[in-house]
Formats: sequence, structure tokens, C-alpha cells
Amino acid sequence: MEKDYKERSCYTLGFIKPDGMDHEEEIIKMIQEKGLSFVYWKYIILTGELIDAFYPHVKKEYPENYEKLYNYMKDKLVLAYILHDKNAKAIKKYRDVLGTTKSWEAAPDTVRGKFGDKTTIYKNVAHGSANLKEAQEETIRFFGDYIFGVFNKVTWLIGYENNLVLTGYNEAHAKNYTDEQVLDMIIKERDDYAKKMGQ
Ligand code: GDP
Repeated sequence: MEKDYKERSCYTLGFIKPDGMDHEEEIIKMIQEKGLSFVYWKYIILTGELIDAFYPHVKKEYPENYEKLYNYMKDKLVLAYILHDKNAKAIKKYRDVLGTTKSWEAAPDTVRGKFGDKTTIYKNVAHGSANLKEAQEETIRFFGDYIFGVFNKVTWLIGYENNLVLTGYNEAHAKNYTDEQVLDMIIKERDDYAKKMGQ
């Protein structure tokens, strides 16, 4: 998949991999210090299906490593999260704080540079979506059920540059709105925004 860390998005998805779970608090702190906020998070056990869905390119390009990666992650606990950046630089900021894929090449002040295994590529502490399309797909993969069951609407909502949408959800949580009310609210926000942008 083409990488474009500079693609604008208020949201991105990440998870702390099994080898990073021992440093959970420090990693969260580093991410927050970058100006990103945690919108939703949950602990999840990675199934074989989830691993297959996340790493088709590794399976194709590095089959010998895929098996090791798979066995290392399967049935392990990870912390998954949606991150928000009000300046729509969530993907890039989070990739920057993670550092390069190979931990031994990552800068010492990055998550991978600090905690990554210096010889094993797949033990690189945390995952971060590489572009908007990946962020949308991966968010739905992990959090679709959280987002009021309006799965098919979420694709564009998550990637939407205006921050209204998930803010709307948070508010809706607090006020106990029904799914229909939330959906009406989102549609209205989308239309107002489109009008404002002259679309
Ligand atoms: P990322 O976006 O920085 O995580 O890097 P990639 O999308 O290229 O790779 C996905 C993940 O696959 C990496 O983070 C590694 O954990 C894992 N992986 C396992 N073997 C390999 C390999 O031989 N090359 C790469 N690039 N990644 C590997």
C-alpha cells in the first residue's frame, strides 16, 4: 500500500504490539506529548483473522517473516486506539513518534528507538496506520462496533477533515442519544460543513 504519512486526517489508528505492552504507560505518554489525544481505546486479543487482515503485504512480500510475525502476535493482548489531532496531522504525527519500521534505525527519542528489539523487525513495539485509507479500514476493523453501529457511514466520517464527527459521538454518549438521533446529527453536520466549504 502506498505510504503517504502527510495525508491530512484528524484521526488515525494504532495499537501497542505484544512486545510494547510492558511499556504501555510510557508509550501513551510519548504519544500524548506529541499533541495527540486518545479518542477511543480498548484492550483486545489478536485473533489469526485480525493478523491476516492487518498484514497481507507482509504475507505476500516476506512469507518467511510472516509466519514468525503471526505466531508472535496470535492470541496476545494488545491496546488498540483511535488518536485525534486537531490540526489534521494525526497520521504523520503518530508515525513520527513511532519512528522507522526497523527499530535499530529509529531515532532514540521515538517509541521504536526507545523500546524496539534491535534485531527482530516484527518486534517493533506499536503499529500505526500508514495513510488515510488504511486508517479508515483499520479503525472499522477494531472499533466498528463501538461507533453506534453506523458502520457504513463511518468510512468517510473518520477521515473527515472537520473535527465534528467524533466530537459528536462523544457528546452523544454523554447525552444518551439514540442511534437515529446520532445519525441525523452527523448528516446535518456533514451538510452544514459541505455548504460552508461550497461543495
Ligand atoms: P510499518 O507501517 O512501519 O509497521 O511497516 P510495514 O507496513 O512495512 O510492515 C508492517 C509490519 O510487518 C512491520 O511493522 C513489522 O512488524 C512486520 N514485518 C515482519 N517482517 C517484516 C519484513 O521483513 N519487512 C517489513 N517491512 N516488515 C515486516
